[in-house]
This record gives sequence, C-alpha cells and structure tokens, in this order.
Amino acid sequence: MKLKQIVDEVFGDYKEAGMLLIFPECSWKCEGCQNKHLALLETKNFPDEDIIQRFQENPFTKCIILGGLEPFYNESSIDDISMFISHLIEAYPTKEDRPMLIIYTGYEMNELGNILSKYAFDALFPLYGNGIIKCGRYVQDSSPYFNNTLGVTIASLNQDALDFRTCSFAHKKFNIPNASKTSTCDPS
Ligand code: SF4
Repeated sequence: MKLKQIVDEVFGDYKEAGMLLIFPECSWKCEGCQNKHLALLETKNFPDEDIIQRFQENPFTKCIILGGLEPFYNESSIDDISMFISHLIEAYPTKEDRPMLIIYTGYEMNELGNILSKYAFDALFPLYGNGIIKCGRYVQDSSPYFNNTLGVTIASLNQDALDFRTCSFAHKKFNIPNASKTSTCDPS
C-alpha cells in the first residue's frame, strides 16, 4: 500500500490505541488544513503483510486507522484499501477477531455514497465487520465535540462517524445508490 508513513501508536483518534496509516495525497478540500506538512514526506510502498504483522506484534494497539491525508483520494488509494481489507480478512478469518478498522475521510457523508458503491465498499465494509467511517471537512473555526461512536473528541461539528456494524443505518446516512440491492451486511 502506498503511504507516507506508519505511526505504530496513536491515542486521539479512537477510544483505544491504534496504528495510523498516513495516506499520500489529498485535494486540499478543507480550508485551514493542519496536515499539509505531511505532503512533504516521501511516499513509500508498504506491503500489506508487513503492516499486518507489525500491528499484530504490538500488544497495545486495538485498531487500525486509515487517515490523512485522504484515504479516498483516488482510484489507486481506494484499490489499496480494498486489497488491504481483503488481506485483513485472510489474516483474521473469524469476524469477531478482526481489529476495528477506522477510515478518517474529509468527504462529507452525502459525498461518499457514490464512492462507496462505485468501489463496492458498501459491501466490503460490512463483510469485514468492525468498521467505522469518520467523515466531514475539517472546519477551522468550528467547535470540537465528543463523538460517541469513536469515543473521542473530534475537530468540527459538521463531522460524524458511522459504525458499519449497523450498516442499514450507514447505507441511509451515506446516501448509497440502490442501497437495498447492495446491502449484503450481517451486523452480527
Ligand atoms: S481531508 Fe484531511 S488532509 Fe485533506 S484537506 Fe481535509 S484535513 Fe487536510
């Protein structure tokens, strides 16, 4: 997977410690973005198997966070995410054992429906099981608030997080076209 960097332990993005994968590109859609310095880092290819092994060797982290820059930036990064989820499913055949996978995107919920359905994420994410998408632009002058789904304070009031274990709710919120036809989820 093409990334800027892996941070083995982060504490502010979810209620449990996580491993952060920093995606390499963004269209800079948020005014006042605090992440522009990350673009200066070299982009490298990290094999999925190495990332998963690195995560498994750290007893402190319970989730994997795909974050900023923008994980849904283009087809290449979305392909990388799809492949990574497939490799996680291979590494953790039992759904209950899979680490929580959290995608931090700057797209608003109503912009995500087409992306999720075009790349079959609306099926892949529920198939994986333990997934959350945190979405919405960073707004510099907005008020931070405590988000119950993530269990941490997030930067802007317009942002929200949806848990794909309750995917019928997520389909509705993300405005996924033909949601009833694509709903293959099993929230158990
Ligand atoms: S999505 Fe993230 S990296 Fe991109 S502009 Fe917004 S805050 Fe910055």
